[in-house]
Amino acid sequence: IYGLSKYSVKPRDNLLGGLLTADFDQGSCLSRYQSSLYRKPSPYKTSEYLVSKLRNYEMLHKRCGPGTDSYKRAAEQIGHDHENRNRTVGECKYIVWVAVYGLGNRILTLASVFLYALLTERIILVDQRKDISDLFCEPFPGNSWLLPLDFPLMGQINSFNQEYPCCYGTMLKNHPINSNAIPSHLYLHLLHDYRDQDKMFFCQKEQSFINKVPWLVVKSNLYFIPSLWLNPSFQTELIKLFPQKDTVFYHLARYLFHPTNQVWGMVTRSYNAYLSRADEILGIQVRVFSRQTKYFQHVMDQIVSCTQREKLLPEAAAAQEESQVMNVSKTPKLKAVLVTSLNPDYSNNLKNMYWERPTSTGEIIEIYQPSKERIQQTDKKLHDQKALAEMYLLSLTDKLVTSATSTFGYVAQGLGGLKPWILYTPKKFKTPDPPCGRGVSMEPCFLNPPAHGCEAKKRINTAKIVPFVRHCEDLKKNGLKLV
Ligand code: GDP
Repeated sequence: IYGLSKYSVKPRDNLLGGLLTADFDQGSCLSRYQSSLYRKPSPYKTSEYLVSKLRNYEMLHKRCGPGTDSYKRAAEQIGHDHENRNRTVGECKYIVWVAVYGLGNRILTLASVFLYALLTERIILVDQRKDISDLFCEPFPGNSWLLPLDFPLMGQINSFNQEYPCCYGTMLKNHPINSNAIPSHLYLHLLHDYRDQDKMFFCQKEQSFINKVPWLVVKSNLYFIPSLWLNPSFQTELIKLFPQKDTVFYHLARYLFHPTNQVWGMVTRSYNAYLSRADEILGIQVRVFSRQTKYFQHVMDQIVSCTQREKLLPEAAAAQEESQVMNVSKTPKLKAVLVTSLNPDYSNNLKNMYWERPTSTGEIIEIYQPSKERIQQTDKKLHDQKALAEMYLLSLTDKLVTSATSTFGYVAQGLGGLKPWILYTPKKFKTPDPPCGRGVSMEPCFLNPPAHGCEAKKRINTAKIVPFVRHCEDLKKNGLKLV
C-alpha cells in the first residue's frame, strides 16, 4: 500500500526520532506509523529534553487518568469546596479542554492546553461530547485522554462563561483573591472576547495561585503559546524543550494529532490518486470570511496574481508561443495543485485556465480539490473528518499558499513545517497589493493576545519584549507569533 508514496524508498524512523512512544498497537492507528512515509525527512530535530518530558507526562497520565484512584479522589473534591478550605493538592491535577469553534481553532487550542499541562504538570482531559474521537487517535499509551461522561461538572460545562462565579477573571474582578481559600475548580475564559482580568492568566503571580487548584476547565479559540513564552517562570523550561523556537506547534502537533483510520484513509486515497506522481505539489488554502461562502472575483485574481508573481505557478503562454511550448520533446514537469476551499469555483477556474492555454514553461498543471462542502458544518462527523483530511493533505505539500488569519491554514503550515505564502486580507472587496507575502515562520499566530503587561496595567507592545515573539505578518497590530 505504500507503493505510491514518494518518500517510501528508504526505511524511515516512524517514531519521529523518539517523539512518539513505541507503546502502541500499530493497527489501531495507522497514521501514527505511516505518516513518515508521506513526508520528507524532517529537518527539525526533537530535543532530548522534550522526549523525556513527554515520556514522563505519559507515565503521569497513566497514573492519574480516568479510572484511576487518583482520578476518583480528585473528582470527588468537586462540589465540596466549603469542607476543604485548606485544600492540599493531591498528586494529580487536571486541565479540561472544551471543544468550541471550528476544527482549526480546536487543534490550536488543544496544542496550547497540552503545552500548558506539560509545563505545570497537569493532566489534559478532553471533552468527548463533540466528535473528537472520530478525528484523532488516543495520543497517550495506557490511559484515555477523554474526560469521562460522568465527570461531576459535565452538566454545567456548556454554560460556563464570564458570569460563572468560578470564572477566574470574574473572581479577580469582583474581589482580591484569598490565596488561603483554594477552590476545587476554576473556569478559564480564554476566548477572543476576554477581558483584562481573564488575560491575567498568563502572568507569573496569578499562576502561583492557579497552580494550587486541582481542576481547571478552559474554553479557548486562541493559540496562546506565545504568551506562555513571555512568562518568566515558563521561559527557561520552554527554551530547553524547544531550542528552535519556531518549531513548537510542529513538534506538538506531530506528537498529539494522529488522524483516525477513517480520516487517514481519506488522506492516503487522495494522496495516492492525485498527488503522489507529481514532481512538485503546491497547496492553496482559500478561506473567505463571510457569511455565505460566495465566490469573489477579487479573491480569484489575488490567487492568480500571487502564484504567478511568486513563481509558484506558470503563466499561460502567449498565442504566438503556443506551438513552440507544445513542441517541447523532453518529459514535461508535472505540478499538482491541491486546492482547499468551501467553494468549488476557485479550483474550477484554475483548472479551466490551465486547460484552455498551455503554460509558458511547458509544465503540466493538475488541479485537485478534494471536498466542496459549501457551508461550514462544524460538529457534523463527516464534514469535520473531511476538514481534517484536507488540513493534513495541505501539510504534505512542498509549497503552501494560505489565507490570512485562518486557523485552518495555520494547522496545515505548522504540521507540515512550511513557511507559507500568505494571501493578505482584502480590503473593500479589492485584490490587495501585494497580493501575498512569505511568512517569517511556520508557527501559528496568536490572534488577540493580551496588550498589557502583568505588573502595570498600562498597555505595552508585547511584540517588543523578547526578540523571538513578534507581530504576525497577517495581523500586524493585533497578533503575536514565535519566530
Ligand atoms: P478558520 O475559521 O479559518 O480559522 O478555521 P476553522 O477550522 O476553525 O473553522 C472553519 C471550518 O469551516 C473548518 O473547520 C471546516 O469545518 C470548514 N472549512 C473551512 N475551509 C474549509 C476547507 O477548505 N475545506 C473543508 N473541508 N472545510 C473547510
